[in-house]
Amino acid sequence: MSWYHESMYDAGRAAGSLWEETAPQLAPGIDLGPAGDGNCDVAIIGGGYTGLSAALHLARDFSIDVRLLEAGPLGWGASGRNGGFCTLPPMALSLGGLVARYGGEEARRFIDTQREAIAFVRSFAETEAIDIELQGEGELHVAHAPSRFVELEKERDLLSRVFGIDAPLYRREEVAERFYDSREQFGALLMPLSFGLHPLRFARGLAAVAARAGARLHGRSPVIRWEREGQRHRLTTPSGTITASRVLVATNGFTREPMPDALASRILPVMSNIIVTRPLTESELAAQSWRTESPCANTRNLLFYYRLLPDRRFLFGARGDTTGTPEDGLRMRRYMERRLREVFPGWADAEITHSWRGFVCMGLRRTPSIGALTADPSVFFALGYHGNGVAAAPWAGRLAAQLIGGKAKIPDIPLPLRGKPAAIPFPSLRGWYLRAALGYYWLMDR
Ligand SMILES: Cc1cc2nc3c(=O)[nH]c(=O)nc-3n(C[C@H](O)[C@H](O)[C@H](O)COP(=O)(O)OP(=O)(O)OC[C@H]3O[C@@H](n4cnc5c(N)ncnc54)[C@H](O)[C@@H]3O)c2cc1C
Repeated sequence: MSWYHESMYDAGRAAGSLWEETAPQLAPGIDLGPAGDGNCDVAIIGGGYTGLSAALHLARDFSIDVRLLEAGPLGWGASGRNGGFCTLPPMALSLGGLVARYGGEEARRFIDTQREAIAFVRSFAETEAIDIELQGEGELHVAHAPSRFVELEKERDLLSRVFGIDAPLYRREEVAERFYDSREQFGALLMPLSFGLHPLRFARGLAAVAARAGARLHGRSPVIRWEREGQRHRLTTPSGTITASRVLVATNGFTREPMPDALASRILPVMSNIIVTRPLTESELAAQSWRTESPCANTRNLLFYYRLLPDRRFLFGARGDTTGTPEDGLRMRRYMERRLREVFPGWADAEITHSWRGFVCMGLRRTPSIGALTADPSVFFALGYHGNGVAAAPWAGRLAAQLIGGKAKIPDIPLPLRGKPAAIPFPSLRGWYLRAALGYYWLMDR
């Protein structure tokens, strides 16, 4: 049961993103369209990075007969409309919080998998010769207030001591000299490894390679009923019924019925919003000393994330809006436009050409969830990337394929990633919890 406006789930509607205008179309025969009736060994629900990567690896590495069912066109969900920050870590815990909860060893194993996840995206694009418009070297974590610089110092020390990652820290003047300046720039930590990319090019690239490997990918195939018939699962879409021995749930923030309650009631979909300007001129870029292609995110609890795109458009993202109504979408867009111009006054005249939004997936455990249901081990899941799934989701899809194919075992998954999301008390109140949390963070950020 979702509290968001129905239009957020209307997979017949385009997201309205810049990416939809600039990504090459899929070649004919990759998206097979409505699934009709049929059988397979593994059915995947959800055609984003998680599902497409799982389909690719199941077909290519395990020769498993796999069908993927996606409600919209392939990549319709968050994977085709995100900000394109290929970064780590996929969690809503601080690094210190991660170590406190799981201990140094498990925390390290988790972060190591996510370094591997970023490397996977880069090497996939290189090996398959897919132009994902890779940009930048590292991600800047920017202190939005002077007091936050101290936190960045602690983060730098922890990264080096516990995780063996050397992340250079720059004071305000150095950031202004090397990267950019703004009213909310008080120094920054440069997380190495990360980069920016074109998210829909990446999603469509995964789809093309998965289809070539033999996976059958069905867009416009929303699963509207899910039943058990003996050892088989029966997944009904408007065009027929697909039966499968095993199912992978890869629906992340867009999860809703008929997904198992053990997953659907435990996730917290949160809205992320993006606006994009027209291409900025040389003098506008100079007005903010902008000279970096690296993606940036600031230290607000309700963070702003931003990057300069290859054609010099500026992408600016923020979390917020707890209803998903078209009216609140407009309000959010106006708020973001105002904040963009306050933070970067040199771009006061740069009109906004695109705006869109979608769901990221949070949970009480604050880290992703990968595994199989105890009550029915033929149902696998990989979701809950906490707003950071560009690297984590395709990696998790590959791990899910390895679990299904028998190459990986659930007890070997690092603890922060292993098993179902934590139960949320009174899940029907999730919309209210979220409103309260957003209000609290908004106050903390002031
Ligand atoms: C605006 C925005 C900005 C973001 N920016 C970043 C970023 O810069 N960096 C980053 O790392 N992460 C970012 N994220 C998060 C990231 O995009 C996701 O974590 C990632 O794409 C998740 O991939 P996925 O395949 O698991 O889910 P999705 O891509 O959301 O795919 C799930 C799919 O399941 C389908 N589905 C749901 N129910 C059914 C059903 N019943 N039948 C069939 N199909 C169904 C949906 O249609 C959807 O396409 C952002 C997300 C948003 C919304």
